[in-house]
Amino acid sequence: MKTFEDYMKSFLEGEVLLKEGLVSEHIYIREYACRHCDKFPPLEDVPEDLSEQWFFAIRKVFDAFEDLREFVGRPIFISSGYRCKEYQKILTARGYKTAEVSPHNFGVALDIIVGDERDNQVAVSFLELYHSDLRIGFQLYNHKFIHIDTAYLLPIKKLQELKILPTLVRGVSLQKYWTEGKRW
Ligand SMILES: [Zn+2]
Repeated sequence: MKTFEDYMKSFLEGEVLLKEGLVSEHIYIREYACRHCDKFPPLEDVPEDLSEQWFFAIRKVFDAFEDLREFVGRPIFISSGYRCKEYQKILTARGYKTAEVSPHNFGVALDIIVGDERDNQVAVSFLELYHSDLRIGFQLYNHKFIHIDTAYLLPIKKLQELKILPTLVRGVSLQKYWTEGKRW
């Protein structure tokens, strides 16, 4: 079973990036790893054909971030990356409006702050234009931060068969929530 680090190492400059404390050209491990336990998504918990697809979804969200980073031309603050299940429970207990199962729990989501509301709006417009397949949350967060994810690229059905993902979320099938191009 391959871990997140194994996939990183086999990915282009992955080994160098990890050594430098990065998971992508402009994303530090400390920004991406779980804030509560410093762990990476547990790709080793699933068969290799699934972990491969899972890592691909992670890379896609990093790639979108890097494109935006290049467009913006200065650092972008990442307020949340991967969150383990335990941390998700802690956040919910603290009263945060977090979903019971979030794309963050699979490391395929990033919450980012480019600047003020206007800066964030410009960033969303860029993403709408060049990465329209992403799921983007912005309005619901009063334009204070941007949530981006590639949850639709996860092997949802197979993860459900393994009971790693629920079938229903708030009584509705998860497939209806985690769709390509969703906006909220
Ligand atoms: Zn954690």
